[in-house]
Amino acid sequence: MKNGGRHVVYNSPMPLEDYARKRNFSATPEPQGKVEDRKSRRLIYVIQKHKATHLHYDLRLEMGGVLKSWAVPKGPSYNPADKRLAVEVEDHPLDYASFEGVIPEGNYGAGTVIVWDQGAYELADGYDADPLVAWRKGKLHVRFHGKKLLGIWVLVRTRGPNSRDWLLFKKNDGDADPAADITRQRPESVKSGKTVEQVEKSQVAP
Ligand code: MN
Repeated sequence: MKNGGRHVVYNSPMPLEDYARKRNFSATPEPQGKVEDRKSRRLIYVIQKHKATHLHYDLRLEMGGVLKSWAVPKGPSYNPADKRLAVEVEDHPLDYASFEGVIPEGNYGAGTVIVWDQGAYELADGYDADPLVAWRKGKLHVRFHGKKLLGIWVLVRTRGPNSRDWLLFKKNDGDADPAADITRQRPESVKSGKTVEQVEKSQVAP
């Protein structure tokens, strides 16, 4: 249920039908939920630094009851000139936003994950109020209220409507800073304060 599941979301006449069908509420702490006014909801986002076969950052935005997810090899940049490749990957559960630890060898995504940034987000004024509509159109203007990311970032799908390739870049607003190098300046977890290397070492048997 990757591409198929996502497309069903837009065709279903019941807004939470797919959300419920994908989940076993006796096995997940996620709320069963009800239809709410999206504009009043506080949507979460997380960026996880993932030291796997290749180091990358996983950007996840809450929408439709899940975390839409993109793997960003170079991570976000405050320099609007830096257009960062962001490859869309499978939806993750909301619970995943607080996951930090070591995925053992032999498992999918084996390696170490830290919560690099976390907070609330909203779509910037003047664009679609529903993130799923903006996602379908392939253009999201996202205002982050994080510990590291502030201001507006742009996510744009490239290479056609069925592509998983997007670009992530900073809008040239008051928070833009071409001289900043946020991934180097702030390598630590906002959850534990540890670097990905420290988490990795802390979980390796002596
Ligand atoms: Mn990853």
